[in-house]
Amino acid sequence: MHTFYPSAGVEYEIKPRTGTAFNLRSGQTLTVIDPLGCQVSDMLAFSAADPRESISSGRTFDYASRIFLTVPDPLYSNRSNIFLRITADTCGRHDFLFTPCSKDTFRIIYGDAEPHRGCFGNFVEALAPWGVEEDAIPIPFNCFMNVIVDGKSGELRVDIPKSKAGDYVSFVAEVDLVIALTACSALRSNGGSFKPIRWKVTDPEDHSPST
Ligand SMILES: [Zn+2]
Repeated sequence: MHTFYPSAGVEYEIKPRTGTAFNLRSGQTLTVIDPLGCQVSDMLAFSAADPRESISSGRTFDYASRIFLTVPDPLYSNRSNIFLRITADTCGRHDFLFTPCSKDTFRIIYGDAEPHRGCFGNFVEALAPWGVEEDAIPIPFNCFMNVIVDGKSGELRVDIPKSKAGDYVSFVAEVDLVIALTACSALRSNGGSFKPIRWKVTDPEDHSPST
């Protein structure tokens, strides 16, 4: 099985409209940072032991009875295991309803003749070394995506992210995971411009007494 363990504490950058994937060990924390503000990052998680187990918006909503998630909400898998818990959140608004933007999003919603492959295409490429095929890509946790829900009609509207420069959201892993992350490619989700995303992995704090 392919592996890529990022160096703990090192901040990595995802260029605009691209994506990446990496391993996250149980106990490690992933922090997703919006360096310039107003930029969405879609996040996927798969079990490192069996990539058929993946992050599940449906299971998570079932157990939270809520669609807006923040500290200390857990994110569940399709097998109802807790994959991640949100441990820090300076933005406070994220989305877990929308699929990753894709060439079909840009064709159907934006009317693009030569559509960009979007977060979906970036996920497919980044996850290929782990054997994840495109039909196995679930709904991502869309960090900083700001979806307004009309409580009566259920109508959804994608609004400008609330994230300011330097805002971040952190997740601690409860099991060994493969994570995929993007700097989202959809104009309307990102306030009209494409910006980078930064991320880092940190090890669990060492609580052993110092001598
Ligand atoms: Zn996107």
